[in-house]
Amino acid sequence: MELRLYDTLTREKRVFTPIDPGNVRMYVCGPTVYDFAHIGNARPVIVFDVLFRLLRHRYGEDHVTYVRNITDVDDKINERAARDFPNLPLNQAIRKVTEQTANQFHADVAGLGCLPPTFEPRATDFVLPRSDGKADMVTLIKELVARGHAYEAAGEVLFDTQSMPDYGALSGRRLDEQLAGARVAVDAHKKNPADFVLWKQSSEHEPGWESPWGRGRPGWHIECSAMSAAFLGDVFDIHGGGLDLIFPHHENEIAQSRCAHGTATMANYWMHNGFLEVEGAKMSKSLGNFITIREALNDWPGEVLRLNMLKTHYRSPIDWTLKGVEESKKVLDGWYDIIGDDTQAQGEPDDDVIAQLGDDLNTSGAITRLHAMASGRSGTEIDVRRKLKTSAMLLGLLGKTRKEYLASNPRAIVVNKEAVDTLIADRTAARARKDFKESDRIRDELAAMGVVIKDSREGTTWEVAR
Ligand code: AMP
Ligand code: ZN
Repeated sequence: MELRLYDTLTREKRVFTPIDPGNVRMYVCGPTVYDFAHIGNARPVIVFDVLFRLLRHRYGEDHVTYVRNITDVDDKINERAARDFPNLPLNQAIRKVTEQTANQFHADVAGLGCLPPTFEPRATDFVLPRSDGKADMVTLIKELVARGHAYEAAGEVLFDTQSMPDYGALSGRRLDEQLAGARVAVDAHKKNPADFVLWKQSSEHEPGWESPWGRGRPGWHIECSAMSAAFLGDVFDIHGGGLDLIFPHHENEIAQSRCAHGTATMANYWMHNGFLEVEGAKMSKSLGNFITIREALNDWPGEVLRLNMLKTHYRSPIDWTLKGVEESKKVLDGWYDIIGDDTQAQGEPDDDVIAQLGDDLNTSGAITRLHAMASGRSGTEIDVRRKLKTSAMLLGLLGKTRKEYLASNPRAIVVNKEAVDTLIADRTAARARKDFKESDRIRDELAAMGVVIKDSREGTTWEVAR
């Protein structure tokens, strides 16, 4: 099979040629663990899981190394720790937050049918030099200082962007353009407003490590430079993440890694997934359209969510709608009716499914082909069923038996949101006129539908009971 991938850096689709076919190496930026992941965060995890499966199919299961990190040092984590565990010492509180959140994340993405990556390093294990000699952040920063690419100012160590002639190539931002629009006064200690933090000082109330520059903590970007080098070497094949990471995160990773290692590239293919919106709007807590993976998994089988995600090409934006998820469920129900309980994955996947995926991961084309296979079947011919299953499994679909799939449906009844909202409005009205008998009756009716309501000063919210 031929595999072609779109590379954000060169802005073209190119035939994928690994540096070493015996060990194809991919790095994808993982979650910052301070809160439940949302379904937008699920997108890169699912997309690069499909690529991982395809690479394993093409080069062999033992010949692909996939690294996805966990960012467990971040100011948002510190805030959450202080808020949720005010009585614990900060370090313990932080560990609680990051462990809890990482466990939630693992359960969530397993629910979406994603394979675990080969390695999942945590940033805090790669701050200081390690006994196993793997790359670490402090050594990388020292190297950048020694090579004249970083400097100390006002207690920080900063990357000197002007020391790198082609800084900005990934995002297409030129340094002189960035200079023109920058507010210099805010960052008076920087030589150039585009310079970014590699290391910053920590107060006694912040997590910190002893370093040549005093007690402090790393900037975000240096984490991925260290962890990718630790497991994949100075130059590797594929680096991925969401579109929003192109600048500044990936731009700065490239600057750090190339300048520290003295290489012309960091990764040969830079891949970025498009953004996910909900019912036509940017997902945000204030708009009330914010959906965590956990909530989605409470309402739908994980595989339905996965299929719904893969119906759209990874580089296009997705509009995530209830209607779309319902349609995906119908499709998957139908496919499982075909493959039933006794179908084994056997033989090679369909050529056209492979060709579609090989064309820059055209999952929507692959799904169209699966539809054709499913509807063109002649009777219940075992070979057709097997082929459908084997091919869909490349996308991480149809890996279960029909029975297992049906059991993975968290609710047999689908809650109709409008009906719930109407009942809640009726109940609020009943409470306002102090008709508590009626308001209790409506509460019971909702409970019978599997809907749990919560009253607070802000009003009444609801969720589907687990
Ligand atoms: P974060 O925890 O915000 O750093 O995000 C983790 C990953 O999810 C990154 O690869 C982001 O690019 C990606 N991501 C965040 N929000 C969305 C979204 N709405 N749609 C698609 N990807 C997203
Ligand atoms: Zn990263």
